[in-house]
Amino acid sequence: MLNINQFVTPVGDNRVVDESNGISEADTLHEECGVFGVYAPGEEVARVTYFGLYALQHRGQESAGIAVCSDDGVLVVKDMGLVSQVFNENSFVTLTGDCAIGHVRYSTTGSTHWENAQPMYEVSGRGPLALAHNGNLVNTEDLRDWLISLGATFSSTTDTEVMTALLNNSPAGTTAEAIEESFPRLRGVYSAVVLTEEGLFGVRDPHGVRPLCIGRKEDAWFLASETAALDVVGASFIREVEPGEIVRLGPDGLTSHGYVAKSAPSLCIFEFIYFARPDSRLYDRVLYDARKEMGMHLAEEAPVEADIVIPVPDSGIPAAIGFAEKSGIPYGEGLIKNRYIGRTFIQPTQSIRQLGVRLKLNPLTPAVAGKRLVVVDDSIVRGTTSRKIVEILKEAGASEVHMRVSSPPICWPCFYGIDTAVRSELIASRLEVPEIRDFLGADSLHYLGMENLVRSCRAPKDRFCTACFDGEYRIDVPDEMRMSKFRLEEKTGA
Ligand code: SF4
Repeated sequence: MLNINQFVTPVGDNRVVDESNGISEADTLHEECGVFGVYAPGEEVARVTYFGLYALQHRGQESAGIAVCSDDGVLVVKDMGLVSQVFNENSFVTLTGDCAIGHVRYSTTGSTHWENAQPMYEVSGRGPLALAHNGNLVNTEDLRDWLISLGATFSSTTDTEVMTALLNNSPAGTTAEAIEESFPRLRGVYSAVVLTEEGLFGVRDPHGVRPLCIGRKEDAWFLASETAALDVVGASFIREVEPGEIVRLGPDGLTSHGYVAKSAPSLCIFEFIYFARPDSRLYDRVLYDARKEMGMHLAEEAPVEADIVIPVPDSGIPAAIGFAEKSGIPYGEGLIKNRYIGRTFIQPTQSIRQLGVRLKLNPLTPAVAGKRLVVVDDSIVRGTTSRKIVEILKEAGASEVHMRVSSPPICWPCFYGIDTAVRSELIASRLEVPEIRDFLGADSLHYLGMENLVRSCRAPKDRFCTACFDGEYRIDVPDEMRMSKFRLEEKTGA
């Protein structure tokens, strides 16, 4: 009889900020999660997973977890906090086995509580199973109700637990068959790693909205949200898991087990703009190169006479370099980022949020005083942070501030695993560009056009989700969920 255990080291702060409505207070978009998996008999798989998660920390900072499978069953260690806070040397003494999965989380589905940390685990007739995913289902409630009617019980509010329960309810004989049989019921977005005694499995939703790639190092096999995590553990990139595909990494190496379903690929284009690390690759394109090209196109679309091009660090750096290169205007630093500041989601009010900008970014006065600045950022959500940036740069003596944004205006909320404001709080859903410029207090403002954004990614537009720019939701969103992020619009009549 196999044992399945779960160890908790309560280092977390047990935050009670309820984000179950999926609405962000922050003036930026947040990636939801990162996943990692390794099959490497004889290796310290938990330690390898730790470093994989470390490389993916930018995708989620609220909780971290690792599950390991050995002859003794599946062991899970997870807690609130950063990877470096959750794990220590002692963790790796207990987490031994041939195969592991890991997860970093920053959620919209489910509150910020320990119970919602991943990986999730359950025991079924096929044995123990652990699952972690990146994404967001849009039919969680329906599935949960259906599973409860079949006798399932739930301890969290996450869609991940629903996915786990669905697998465990499947009468199929193998994990691959259970995924194939049960996952077609899922609606929404998921890139999942699944751990059982049969090995490590990876599965992507039929649209492939969130990334998931396969790596290899000799006899060891890996799954990761981003190629940068493969680099960090010394693995070579093999390929991306295809949209809808189920893969298994085990004693037979890499095997493809068919598809949950096939559909048109719709990779989130924001992975190119901001979410993924610049040293990661998607669609065979290094994201740093794509972002730099976005900046070059910005310089072509909206040239301006200026003395210096500065980025909003860190995400604006590649595009600012591209802008400087194309325009011939020198590149320099003008805003210094405090890299030890974490998320600011515990700041509840607009006024405190504005103060928070100075905690994160401080102007380099000698570099900006008396200068005409081009300021390059990757996106504008509510506009409050950009407004504050313009304000502190002008206070520091900048004579002109020209904002250049390496993405189109964000007019629509995301329902596919990205933490966004309600629609009426997205500044571009309410105001035209000249009005936004006035709100920011900038001397000029330009957003990158969609055509050049797509051109920079070097893949056709129909291979991307671009819904937050154009409102074209390729995966149907139930009315109730849609209204949860449109509701202020209704209240204000905007
Ligand atoms: S709506 Fe925007 S953020 Fe969400 S998946 Fe689509 S492109 Fe990405």
